[in-house]
Amino acid sequence: MKKVVKFGGSSLASAEQFQKVGNIIRADVDRKFVVPSAPGKRFSADTKVTDMLYACYALAEKDHDFTKEMTKIEERYQEIIDGLGLDLNLTPEFNKIFDNFKQKAGSDYAASRGEYLNGIIMANYLGYEFVDPAEAIVFKEDGSFDAETTNNLLSQRLADVERAVIPGFYGAYADGKVKTFSRGGSDVTGSIVAKAVQADVYENWTDVSGFMIADPRIINNPKGIETITYAELRELAYMGASVLHEDAIFPVRKEGIPINIKNTNAPDDEGTWIVGNTCQKSKYIITGIAGKKGFASINIEKDQMNTEVGFGRKVLQVFEECGINFEHMPSGIDTLSVMVHQSEFEAKEQSILYGITKAVNPDHIDIQSDLALIAVVGRGMKATRGTAGRIFAALAHANVNVRMIDQGSSELNIIIGVSNEDFEAAIKAIYAIFVEIQL
Ligand code: ASP
Repeated sequence: MKKVVKFGGSSLASAEQFQKVGNIIRADVDRKFVVPSAPGKRFSADTKVTDMLYACYALAEKDHDFTKEMTKIEERYQEIIDGLGLDLNLTPEFNKIFDNFKQKAGSDYAASRGEYLNGIIMANYLGYEFVDPAEAIVFKEDGSFDAETTNNLLSQRLADVERAVIPGFYGAYADGKVKTFSRGGSDVTGSIVAKAVQADVYENWTDVSGFMIADPRIINNPKGIETITYAELRELAYMGASVLHEDAIFPVRKEGIPINIKNTNAPDDEGTWIVGNTCQKSKYIITGIAGKKGFASINIEKDQMNTEVGFGRKVLQVFEECGINFEHMPSGIDTLSVMVHQSEFEAKEQSILYGITKAVNPDHIDIQSDLALIAVVGRGMKATRGTAGRIFAALAHANVNVRMIDQGSSELNIIIGVSNEDFEAAIKAIYAIFVEIQL
């Protein structure tokens, strides 16, 4: 068995956290490939090393003195080295980084040093080989990730390596210039490594015991999700549930490698399994609820719209030409609504309204703003009668007016539009009916 284990910043924020991580890795001989993040926050008012690096580099870029800021970063690492009692001197590395900052090596290079240095410490602490992702994780000239070249290079590089530490978050262009993924990107590195070594499992260690059915800021102490499919996770992540970087599922999904989200501070908790397919029923019919505020709906009416071929295309073309992505498009016989992000829409509002008028000559257009969308997601819904009925009964009891309904053809989710102000009440009502009362 081969496991790739990725540890997030809070799992590696201090020597104490490093020790927990060391114990976790040593407890299972299969944990052979380790992907560390940069040290995160030790307490809530603390600053992540990645943010310290960005701030430090911003000074360097303006030719300001950044010695004090760099020393603070060095101290964060020294504290970890001392706490672990390691015989490791990072001064030569810091001298090199200092010079590269002076020569304006770029903010991606700057941020990547957080993971790079933590990787060196981790490799030294575990006695594993250090593999620099700048040698094997490749970005194309346009800045996008080159999955194919990376997989070839990385699988070759790791073919004869028994155990290695591969820092997260970055790779390089073909010319060697360092490039990072977007924030939280060490999750993506873990997934890329899991694919390259054909791991049996990708364990993603963080500071929560997996995904919750609903946002804990809305539901007090929500139940956890034991197993979720990639498809369900996509729906929930898109709607705002965050624990894992959105792009982290793609490399492993096709390979059928499951992801296990685990808690460094409670390693015995099973966490959440993210899998391609499962016959395991979720405990509550629904797997999760997520949502976002801040949508607007542009409602278009025209007599006999149903007979006008190409009506929908012409309307959507206006949005496309204005560079606006649409989220949903519920329709009636003579009506059609397009739901968009309100902030994006507001900037182009008049051009869009004018464009629609010109394109389809509607009888009436009206705009509803301040809407929220809620996705109720669950692979179990397909085989269960009355899920929609239960949702809408619960919302009616909670005095929530439903403004839009959309059920995906996969029957994996039901999307409900409500007013922003009803958002929390709606989520509470849906959670209650499925999880607390289980009617
Ligand atoms: N250290 C980077 C960040 O703070 C990447 C990561 O932690 O995954 O975004």
